[in-house]
Amino acid sequence: MESDYLQEVSSIKTSLVLTLFSLLITSPTLGAKRDFKSIANEQPNASYNPFHIRVKVGAGLPELQVAGMDIQRTIHASKNIKKFNGRKRIKFNCQNFARNNRNNDLLKTPYLLASLNSSTGLISFNDHKYHGEIHVVSNPKTEGCDVVNELPLDTYISSLLSREMNSAWPIEALKAQAVAARSYAVHKILSKQVSRGYGHEAYYDLENSEKHQVSGNFFDATAKTAKASLLTKGEVLVATDGKVVPTFFHASCGGHTLRPEQVWENPISGYNNVICDSCAEKSAWDGDIDTERLQKFIAWMQKKNFLPKDIIVKNFTFLPSSEKSNNVRLYLNDKPYIVKKSHFRRYFGRKIISSNNFKSTFNKKTKILTVHGKGLGHGVGMCQVGAKRMADKKVTYKEILAHYFPGLKLVKLY
Ligand SMILES: [Zn+2]
Repeated sequence: MESDYLQEVSSIKTSLVLTLFSLLITSPTLGAKRDFKSIANEQPNASYNPFHIRVKVGAGLPELQVAGMDIQRTIHASKNIKKFNGRKRIKFNCQNFARNNRNNDLLKTPYLLASLNSSTGLISFNDHKYHGEIHVVSNPKTEGCDVVNELPLDTYISSLLSREMNSAWPIEALKAQAVAARSYAVHKILSKQVSRGYGHEAYYDLENSEKHQVSGNFFDATAKTAKASLLTKGEVLVATDGKVVPTFFHASCGGHTLRPEQVWENPISGYNNVICDSCAEKSAWDGDIDTERLQKFIAWMQKKNFLPKDIIVKNFTFLPSSEKSNNVRLYLNDKPYIVKKSHFRRYFGRKIISSNNFKSTFNKKTKILTVHGKGLGHGVGMCQVGAKRMADKKVTYKEILAHYFPGLKLVKLY
């Protein structure tokens, strides 16, 4: 076992790190493959995919291991490239690295430390096998390392389909999901949304989590998901101005979908409320929320500035809410306020509030709020259960997408 390769970086003089660091930010190693500006001028080519996506697959790890056959390892600070013949396991000790560089201001932002790939195209990180390349990036907040998997977008889509949908579902549903997931990913790549959020180059485009999209690893891709990805190669949804928009999807809407601004803060063009008959009667849920938890919820709403901070709450009453409304009306000390349903879900979590599609009643005596809901997930964009039911009835993926995203257009990007 090779160990502690990051100590190699630690020993490099600060001046060298300084020079190389500026080189890294002006011409990042990852940039070469990611020349998106030229896409518009490229001729369509069956095998050509200009998009590589960088997925964060590990965060703040004190140590990690990368293994594979014929690994090539690049230490960026020293430009040290080394090839290992045969099977190799390399251990990174990130705590040592952080400890030795604690007083180095440069490492207060993420730093691309090492990249590893194998001639087989497959590489393992902590015993999970991935396609493409593995990057090790310093994580200044935790004094550990983040791990980023860079791979062709369509390979990513193929492994994601098994996780975000069921690979046994009809091919037209998987194709619709492939286009939606690709649009979401391409939007993340082009908008540099993650980096912008951090205020610096984040070295990844999205996270492998429910916050973004859940992708799998090598073993999650099946022949069917690969086919769904290939048959929709390069296809994304765009708004009327031609811009790729983030296309959201969820497990089941419970009868109708929601627009982004009904759940989050900002509107996104191209979204409508869509009736979804296929899952209207399915996936009902309900629950009670007692006084104590409601009080804590109100305090959280105040802390987040969703309700005025200066009110000292002496009493509260919720008015009954219907399924059609996006809000629940509330009286605090006999003054009326409005609470977004999505804030209930954000605070109480998916297990208690499974979707944003619910109605509620409030018992004034017991001060208990009772909720009856339908569906699973945020409810914005494509309903996966609805998409499956449509595909079962021989509806094509283009028709499914047109149904859930009536304001968006399908285009082939590459
Ligand atoms: Zn639905």
